[in-house]
Parts: sequence; structure tokens; C-alpha cells
Amino acid sequence: MDTKKLNVKGIVRPESKRLMGHPEYVVSIRDYTTYQFKPYGRNSKYFRALAEEKKILATKCKRHGFFLPPRPFCPDCQSPDMEWIDYTNQPAQVKTASICKFAGKAFLDETPFLLGFIQMGEAKTVMSSVVKLSEDSAENTRMLNKLMDTRRYMELNGRKVEPRFISHPQYTVRDIYFIVTDKEWLNTLK
Ligand SMILES: [Zn+2]
Repeated sequence: MDTKKLNVKGIVRPESKRLMGHPEYVVSIRDYTTYQFKPYGRNSKYFRALAEEKKILATKCKRHGFFLPPRPFCPDCQSPDMEWIDYTNQPAQVKTASICKFAGKAFLDETPFLLGFIQMGEAKTVMSSVVKLSEDSAENTRMLNKLMDTRRYMELNGRKVEPRFISHPQYTVRDIYFIVTDKEWLNTLK
């Protein structure tokens, strides 16, 4: 293990309130940043296509149809005989969405953001993805705040969206987001 990664910052000063009047106590300060190792297994094909080809791949069971996010085994019959299909240009819509006002450290700077459940083409399942109202970050935040202030959340349901691929992919679900395409509706939030 690389001990530098333990990143010991020091100890709490004897006069600190954190010692609650017990200056003989010791409190060490460490940065406990952790790493998540996430094996994608057979779904690696999906993340490679997102990052390397800017494509969204679904899987298809001959008997039970399309799945997105892709399932390497059919959830209905457990068959491993799944076909990978390019779903990038399939019509997409928001089924429902949540607005995230607080997040873990990795995404805290991006709040508030919209987390949508996206239905594409004939897929039997929905995929969760960030949904934007504008490509401009400041404008997106203003529009999202207006949506919240006016309590118009339900108007998101059924909105048509299109996928966008980020310029520096990280092989995660965040390599894509969706943007609402209904210009007339978007103008009502400006
Ligand atoms: Zn099946």
C-alpha cells in the first residue's frame, strides 16, 4: 500500500473545542478518501461503446425483447443468448425524474441536477441519467431553480430528450447525459 495515500493531516490542537475540555486526548485528522473498484463484467461492452464510440448499446433477447441498461443475461428467461444493438438514435423520453439538491462529494459541485429515468425505443426497462435543460451550466441551474420554485416538476414526465456524450469520458454512466429538446417548453423556464 502507498502510505502517502493515507494522507495524515496532523492532530487536533490542544485548545480545540473538539476535545471537549479534555486537552490530554488525541484526535488525529486523516483524509479517508476511498476508491470504488467496479468490475463491469459482460457489461463492459456498454461502457466501452459509450466512451470509445459514443454509442448507446442495448441488448435483445429473441423471446423477451430489448433491455437498456443492457442485460448480458435475459432477466425474463436467464438466457445468455443476447444480441447487442446500437440504440443511440432511438427516440428517448423522460419517464420520471428526481431533482438532486445534495449529493456525495464527487457530485456536490454539480447540485442541483436532474436525475431522469429515461425510456428509449422499445426497451422494457428505463435507464437513469442526468438530464439537462441547457448546455450552459449557469443557465441550466437558473432554469432548474425556476422549475423548482414554480413546482412544475410533473411537466418533465414524457418530455423528449436526446443523448449527449461528454468530451472526456471516464467509463461510467456519467459519460452520457440527456438534454430536453422541446424548445418552446424550455423557453417558458428562461
Ligand atoms: Zn428472454
